[in-house]
Amino acid sequence: MTTHTQPGEQDWLDALRSTLTMQCETQSARLTELTADTGDPAEEYTRGAMIAATRQNLEQTAGALRRIAEGRYGTCERCGGSIPRERLEVLPHARFCVPCQAKQRG
Ligand SMILES: [Zn+2]
Repeated sequence: MTTHTQPGEQDWLDALRSTLTMQCETQSARLTELTADTGDPAEEYTRGAMIAATRQNLEQTAGALRRIAEGRYGTCERCGGSIPRERLEVLPHARFCVPCQAKQRG
């Protein structure tokens, strides 16, 4: 396995890690807020969907942070190729490159 470290890569990763860490904290706080019982049954359904969405976001963000820590961030989990940075900037938790993601769906 080869590691391609481009100039500025480490800085970019450091910045991304801070952003993701912050997002993780925000999402955790939000989840705590959402799971607190408001005692309003009318909100139950909406809240359930929001909890699910927040939990998923949190998992994706935590997963990206874990991959950064493990040094395999930006590597496609399917073909092992590198995921273009432009894609990661739009979708920081992307685990597959574009062609693999397309196959994954189909
Ligand atoms: Zn791939």
